[in-house]
Amino acid sequence: MKKSFYILILISILALSVLFILKRQNESTTIIYGSPQIKADNNFNPIDSNLIKLQKSYPDFIIGIKNNTIIWKDSSTMIFDDSLEKDFDELLNNPDVQDMFTFKYTPFIVDTPCVNFDPGRIRNDEFFKKMYGFSKNEVRANLDTIIWLPSTLNMEVLITKVNGVNIQLQAISNELDSLIMYHKYVETIGGTFNWRKILNTNRLSAHSFGIAIDINVKYSNYWEWDKSYSSTIKYKNQIPIEIVRIFEKHGFIWGGRWYHYDTMHFEYRPELL
Ligand SMILES: [Zn+2]
Repeated sequence: MKKSFYILILISILALSVLFILKRQNESTTIIYGSPQIKADNNFNPIDSNLIKLQKSYPDFIIGIKNNTIIWKDSSTMIFDDSLEKDFDELLNNPDVQDMFTFKYTPFIVDTPCVNFDPGRIRNDEFFKKMYGFSKNEVRANLDTIIWLPSTLNMEVLITKVNGVNIQLQAISNELDSLIMYHKYVETIGGTFNWRKILNTNRLSAHSFGIAIDINVKYSNYWEWDKSYSSTIKYKNQIPIEIVRIFEKHGFIWGGRWYHYDTMHFEYRPELL
């Protein structure tokens, strides 16, 4: 009787240990993003510092911020944080504006991104449509021509004039113009404005809004092109950091800082810098 009692206790302990290990494994494979710590306390409703960054970055459009709301110049409002917890795919496919800040973008450094670390790759399309245009024709009406590498290549490039993106890209071009040793990376442009979906997705590319530029495809790497049967992505880059830093100085982020790398790609996202 006594012996079977001890065996029962032992089996119970073993069963509980197995359950505990299984639960831990399950928790470690599903990463949930969002802001549960804020939702847990209804009295705690600070103005997110990222909300302030948005207003500072886009003063021609955002005239106010109030708790969890963006107030646009046309008096319309947009919720900043939808309070939903999301896994990585949901962040890409159904992001609110706050989700765009999930991964912190660090400019100027030399680094290799870790798994799924894609700062700036999450975009709320409605947010960008509001500023740059709701359709291909609306975006196109806001485009301006800048001169790419004026004293050497002297090539016309289309980019939006909204938020002064054209002025920033011209400044980048002027700086690159004098750096002859880097010209091979930038003297052939992969493209700027193009109203299109991102390859293999239903999401609009940043090129749709006229805020992005692809530099020379010949010296670039894109994770979709390098995809193999292996589930892990092996980071590749040929673009010198000196070029990246010039873009970052002028409000552009670089797709080479993403785990899902796109090293030819730069887009105007001053709120992340
Ligand atoms: Zn691109």
